[in-house]
Amino acid sequence: MRYSLLSILANGLSGKKGWKPAWRDASPKPAYDVVIIGGGGHGLATAYYLAKEHCIRNVAVIEKGYIGSGNAGRNTTIIRSNYLLPGNEPFYEWSMKLWEGLEQELNYNAMVSQRGVLNLYHSDAQRDAYARRGNAMRLNGVDAELLDADGVKAMYPFLDFANARFPIQGGLLQRRGGTARHDAVVWGYARGADRLGVDIIQNCEVTGFIREGEAIVGVETTRGPIRAGKVGMAVAGNTSRVAAMAGLRLPIESHVLQAFVSEGLKPLIDGVVTFGAGHFYISQSDKGGLVFGGDIDGYNSYAQRGNLPVIEDVCEGGMALMPCIGRLRLLRHWGGIMDMSMDGSPIIDTTPVPGLYLNAGWCYGGFKATPASGWCFAHLIARDEPHTVGAAFRLDRFRTGHLIDEKGVGAQPNLH
Ligand SMILES: Cc1cc2nc3c(=O)[nH]c(=O)nc-3n(C[C@H](O)[C@H](O)[C@H](O)COP(=O)(O)OP(=O)(O)OC[C@H]3O[C@@H](n4cnc5c(N)ncnc54)[C@H](O)[C@@H]3O)c2cc1C
Repeated sequence: MRYSLLSILANGLSGKKGWKPAWRDASPKPAYDVVIIGGGGHGLATAYYLAKEHCIRNVAVIEKGYIGSGNAGRNTTIIRSNYLLPGNEPFYEWSMKLWEGLEQELNYNAMVSQRGVLNLYHSDAQRDAYARRGNAMRLNGVDAELLDADGVKAMYPFLDFANARFPIQGGLLQRRGGTARHDAVVWGYARGADRLGVDIIQNCEVTGFIREGEAIVGVETTRGPIRAGKVGMAVAGNTSRVAAMAGLRLPIESHVLQAFVSEGLKPLIDGVVTFGAGHFYISQSDKGGLVFGGDIDGYNSYAQRGNLPVIEDVCEGGMALMPCIGRLRLLRHWGGIMDMSMDGSPIIDTTPVPGLYLNAGWCYGGFKATPASGWCFAHLIARDEPHTVGAAFRLDRFRTGHLIDEKGVGAQPNLH
């Protein structure tokens, strides 16, 4: 059914009995043209674009839990395209363009809110780096504004300008950046894919691959074997585990990233702000809770929970930036498993195993990439060639040296 003002009114007046499930609870068929492993945002977006853009509709998305139970439903919902490097910028800007039309396209309220993303700088060197990034963005046709301290003060007067150890000198602002509701993005893509015939199969874990010679021709699951012409992996933090079942060792490490939500407040922060002298970023949800996060826990883990030292570090960053939150109560916090690549950039590519396609390495920035990731992965699977905006995200770049190291920190996944 299509959602509209009329359908809301009609259902409101008739006891809300007319709503239909947003997607079917599909049971696995013996075979599909394409099987996507992972019912996060990327897997579902891939299935949607396979059906919509490439007319490949005999597709299943296999999810071990419920859709959105991974990072898609655990992130801090920031979307932006303020990247520096040629491999990244066109891809993330394409994603931003898809975000801008997503709700109309999916007929679903994903609460895309272009409320602005402001990265603060605290030194001359950092200002120069941000000026360079802003110029690179503008050369790619992306909006960017460099603000001085007065410009930041006009937007966020409650930040600590006077007594800070690292005084705020200004910030790089992308007004088109902002937030989107993570669950709704998952549900919107699921509903869109389902309407085009895709089977979304939840509570079904992939436990192995079916092979004929070298090639992968299906998956073993907890609900039986499923054969497939092609298999795409979009399992984020579980990438190394699923790849190991196919005999692949990838340049990916899994780390935990935590997020935090405070009790509800009256409107305080109307955009997204990131601290430049520590790892801390913050926005406010429409329900009033402050949503914030910081660094990853610096050890490898597949657990969806983190530890106390990072909580302390994040709270220190918050207090240094905006002391007014000192007496705020934390409502909840959680962790997700990040697929950290060696250069901090993702991989959308074929693999050395015929029939197996890879979407991984999103680190802690993959939510904003959801639409373009699905778009490019669907293109790759359908046509066996990379889409132009994702062409740099090759698996062999770690061997050939064509790294896309946005932060310039080298092969240190915990620093990206
Ligand atoms: C705390 C936190 C904050 C973040 N903040 C941001 C942010 O503000 N902005 C941003 O851009 N990004 C952010 N991210 C990163 C972003 O959430 C991820 O990069 C992105 O969601 C990864 O893609 P996905 O949605 O497909 O992953 P997921 O939702 O993790 O999807 C992968 C799915 O694969 C399933 N799976 C795994 N193994 C199997 C198997 N064997 N069989 C079947 N299914 C399997 C999992 O259950 C999971 O549902 C954040 C992440 C976290 C954890």
